Amino acid sequence: MRKQIAAANWKMNLTLQQGEQLLNDIVAAQNTLNDNQLAIFAVPFPYLTMAQQKLNGQKNMFVAAQNCYNKKNGAYTGEVSVEMLQSIGIQYVVLGHSERREYFNESNQFLAEKINICLEYNITPIFCCGESLQIREANTQNEFVRKQLTESLFHLSAEQISKIIIAYEPIWAIGTGKTASNEQAQEMHAFIRQQFAEKYGETTANEISILYGGSVKANNAKDIFAQPDVDGGLVGGASLIATDFVTITNALK
Ligand code: PEP
Repeated sequence: MRKQIAAANWKMNLTLQQGEQLLNDIVAAQNTLNDNQLAIFAVPFPYLTMAQQKLNGQKNMFVAAQNCYNKKNGAYTGEVSVEMLQSIGIQYVVLGHSERREYFNESNQFLAEKINICLEYNITPIFCCGESLQIREANTQNEFVRKQLTESLFHLSAEQISKIIIAYEPIWAIGTGKTASNEQAQEMHAFIRQQFAEKYGETTANEISILYGGSVKANNAKDIFAQPDVDGGLVGGASLIATDFVTITNALK
């Protein structure tokens, strides 16, 4: 049975002290997650160790990095390698967020290289894909997302692909307060799963968690997560408010 996941993306927000307080509040309020549910916190690099300490001993709660570099090590001032993340016990990395694609020009090919290194070091990528408003209005979102998947992921084996988490995030819904309708989310998630089924077979496709991201809030999470191909969410703004994120986690199937 595939995992149901609430992933928090703090982006470049919060001081260390605010982050500690947020995690304290979440841990205090969170019901124990069941075996099939995960809460993952993608925090800024300087807070990774703090977050691990706060979540230590909490069932199915993990810390993720928000990025990593595509090279193993070397003269890349300011970058963070997968080996460094592995050496401090990080198990998840968000890759290909639309903000990184847009502001840092991350291409599908560049992301494929990052994916390869993560898998080599046994770190699970949370791979983001999704279209802009312009593409949605031209009704070419399926082709666009298919290309993202093909160019970044479809060189992987079935065994490797089953280790990846997907986050479908329509860019027009990120941080805008505008959510995809339940139907739009389900339609794209089913399309994505179908791409995996065609390439890797139904059994593999049915094991891949596909999260929805884009203005998931405490008051809409339950309906979105109830869609059959939606396996939880990647949550930005609402993940910075403890009660909201706990409500979102409680909305997981
Ligand atoms: C995100 O950062 O991935 C995101 C979906 O943000 P928000 O929930 O704020 O739209």
